[in-house]
Amino acid sequence: MCLDEKKRVPRYAELPKRWNAEKAQRPWVYAVSKCCGQEALRDLDRAFVNFWRWRKEKQGRRVGFPRFRRKHGRRDSFRLTGSIKVHPRSVTLPRIGCVRTKEPTAKFRGGILSATVSREADRWYVSLTVKVERPDPVPVEGPVVGMDLGLTAFATLHDGTKIDAPKPLAKALRKLRHRQRLHSRKRRGSRNRQKSALGLARLHRRLRGQRTDFLHKLTTKLAKTKSVIVVEDLSVQGMMRNRHLARSIGDAGWYEFRRMLEYKTEWYGSRLVVAPRSYPSTKMCSACGYVKDEMPLSERIFRCEACGLVLDRDLNAARNLASFVAGSSPETVNACGGEGSGQEDILVQPDPMKQEPSSRKPAATAVGNKRL
Ligand SMILES: [Zn+2]
Repeated sequence: MCLDEKKRVPRYAELPKRWNAEKAQRPWVYAVSKCCGQEALRDLDRAFVNFWRWRKEKQGRRVGFPRFRRKHGRRDSFRLTGSIKVHPRSVTLPRIGCVRTKEPTAKFRGGILSATVSREADRWYVSLTVKVERPDPVPVEGPVVGMDLGLTAFATLHDGTKIDAPKPLAKALRKLRHRQRLHSRKRRGSRNRQKSALGLARLHRRLRGQRTDFLHKLTTKLAKTKSVIVVEDLSVQGMMRNRHLARSIGDAGWYEFRRMLEYKTEWYGSRLVVAPRSYPSTKMCSACGYVKDEMPLSERIFRCEACGLVLDRDLNAARNLASFVAGSSPETVNACGGEGSGQEDILVQPDPMKQEPSSRKPAATAVGNKRL
């Protein structure tokens, strides 16, 4: 199908018709379940709808024009619907048949909406979408926590706890660079190049796995034990554009962290509060409320010119964030002519990044190295 942004964009009703006309020349289409095509068209339609909506409203995350996908791209995946059966150690998929899984699948009994099969390096995964009723959560009885996300430590809590991210990318960067160099020296199309491409993909997969594991454990623990979590509204995309910061931020996974916190706080009865960008969490003194004119990133220690407080930069910011919601912001904030306590501006769980309704819980099950 030839789709051009300048030309007309097909409507959903039209897509299956055009697809059927194209199929005759592509016999490989019939080798797989017909759901694959249908589901892909559904995704394509949603991509168009999202693109046009963004064009019109210019709100939230930038949505680009749908991109073409290669047959064997970096991310191979397809979605199946229809008769999907789950057995204790295997899954039966339409057209493909019974596939043994590495992980037990007992938790997926019941109405399965769809199965997405995807490949990362030489491993295949199937994730099953299951409808789960989540009872209204009991509000967590725990402390309020202010969190500052930083580069030296992944996060600093207002009580002084520093949470370090395992910096998989930083640690393995040398290794990755080396492998990349070796890879680029292999002759194009050669068997050796294929082998080294697989090695690189495996390395990337391992790093991604380590990072996701860390983020999941941290966000679950926070959402289950803290009544309110206050973070600042970082313009992650804006900071990613700054090339010096880009690598460590990308590695730290702030965006993913925020997204996980958003849905997990809802699941477990906690509350996520995002302090607006106008709240001067880094520039304000957490003891007296004096607001500095500027606080460059290179200054790691906060020194208050008004009351003489000397405190770690990130800890000072975390304390300000905690008091943003606790209503315990220093009384002197207003007296000092600071930018107000900002109590009116509290934003509760904005969800520009939310993708799924919380009742649908996709869960991944590894299918080991077995080829489908
Ligand atoms: Zn001060």
